[in-house]
Amino acid sequence: MRVVVVGGGVAGLSAAIQLAAEGASVFLVESKDILGGRVRLQDAGDWVLDPGLHLLRRRGPFQQLLRRLRAPRVLGKRFEAAQMFAVGCDSSRTREVLASMRLVGQNAPERLVVPTGGWSSLVGRLILAARDLGVKFLIEQEVKSILLDEDGMVRAVRIAANEVECDAVVLAVSPVFAARLLATASLPTAALDACTEHRVAAIDAALLGKVMRPYSGYFDEASGVLVIDLAMPDRLPERGSVESCTLLHAVCLSKDGEEGLTAIKTFLDSRCAGWRNMVAVRRSSKSVMLHPCAPEERLKGEMYIDNGIALAGTHVITSHILSDAAVDSGRKAAKALMNR
Ligand SMILES: Cc1cc2nc3c(=O)[nH]c(=O)nc-3n(C[C@H](O)[C@H](O)[C@H](O)COP(=O)(O)OP(=O)(O)OC[C@H]3O[C@@H](n4cnc5c(N)ncnc54)[C@H](O)[C@@H]3O)c2cc1C
Repeated sequence: MRVVVVGGGVAGLSAAIQLAAEGASVFLVESKDILGGRVRLQDAGDWVLDPGLHLLRRRGPFQQLLRRLRAPRVLGKRFEAAQMFAVGCDSSRTREVLASMRLVGQNAPERLVVPTGGWSSLVGRLILAARDLGVKFLIEQEVKSILLDEDGMVRAVRIAANEVECDAVVLAVSPVFAARLLATASLPTAALDACTEHRVAAIDAALLGKVMRPYSGYFDEASGVLVIDLAMPDRLPERGSVESCTLLHAVCLSKDGEEGLTAIKTFLDSRCAGWRNMVAVRRSSKSVMLHPCAPEERLKGEMYIDNGIALAGTHVITSHILSDAAVDSGRKAAKALMNR
């Protein structure tokens, strides 16, 4: 079976690995110039400064996949969520917010780990595994449309001026992009159009100083600001030490844009005095998509299976969240297409 996977984030890579492992011929197309999706590597000099908090859930689908791929030393140190300082709420609420990255909704506090070498290195392992299994990549090329045959089955996708023939498609892109592509094949998109994105403001910074000690982070209920320190030996340059550096990752979960960034900076000014003068590397994102939809808006990954199309991503129903949902939905999309 020839399958085109659209999207080279965690969901697309997981789908590609599963499909290739089951014998499919896989072509993965990514519109940006680098694979990894929302967790794509960003240059931070000698520091391992992930885009976003990016903690791994112990024994979740992502960790299990990495184990199956025999990725050594994937499990980093446990993140000490119990040592976070809760402002205006109790510590169990802080742990729930950290585990789910949502202000509403309940998720049992989970054991979270800081991946060794950073999130990008985990994504790198997925890319290597896919390559080893024979997945072909096309980077910096956007899938523009999906073409169906007279029976309503996928027959090709259009990339620039070319038609790439295939027997099935995995749409591992956010609901907005998935809807756009499905509309080109005149397929209904109402459920995808109804998804409401949760966008946040974020600041990631490497600091030459320890600004949160003795805490591992803070959560402020009033402003929705969540900030943690992910300084670990494998994330620091040789000259740095865990005792003297902070790898600060902050998000404002209640608002994005300039307002969200201001909320983060105001909070840091009040709790982490002097942080602005310690910055070695700093990245600010006014608006980054954290969740593509609300939990109740999640969709069935197999809703277009009769057309030879499967959906993957964190907007697809699984019992997991965040990157674990991306991995799980990607693998399930692959299996659904192979079992069809
Ligand atoms: C600030 C922040 C903090 C986070 N913290 C955590 C955390 O602690 N733990 C955790 O598990 N998760 C965390 N996440 C969530 C995690 O990053 C995402 O759940 C995961 O990366 C989603 O992967 P995905 O493959 O579903 O989507 P994406 O990463 O969005 O990948 C989709 C890809 O499709 C590509 N694409 C779109 N349209 C097309 C097209 N037409 N043709 C080709 N390519 C296309 C896009 O360029 C993109 O690369 C965090 C996210 C953010 C933003």
